[in-house]
Amino acid sequence: MKSGKVRQVDCPTCQAVVLWTHSNKYRPFCSERCKLIDLGDWATEKRFIAGEHVYPDVGEDSESIL
Ligand SMILES: [Zn+2]
Repeated sequence: MKSGKVRQVDCPTCQAVVLWTHSNKYRPFCSERCKLIDLGDWATEKRFIAGEHVYPDVGEDSESIL
């Protein structure tokens, strides 16, 4: 199996090896989760700067209880 044409990068969030392919729409992240985590980081900082009280992100995963 050849793999020389596929470029590999490290996921900025978890440092996992990510194949840089057209089918990987989350690149340079390894998954949607890591992409959201990275975006959430600066979004959270922004909220702190703005000083607004927003509900915590941890509530989003609770949907699976349904
Ligand atoms: Zn990752």
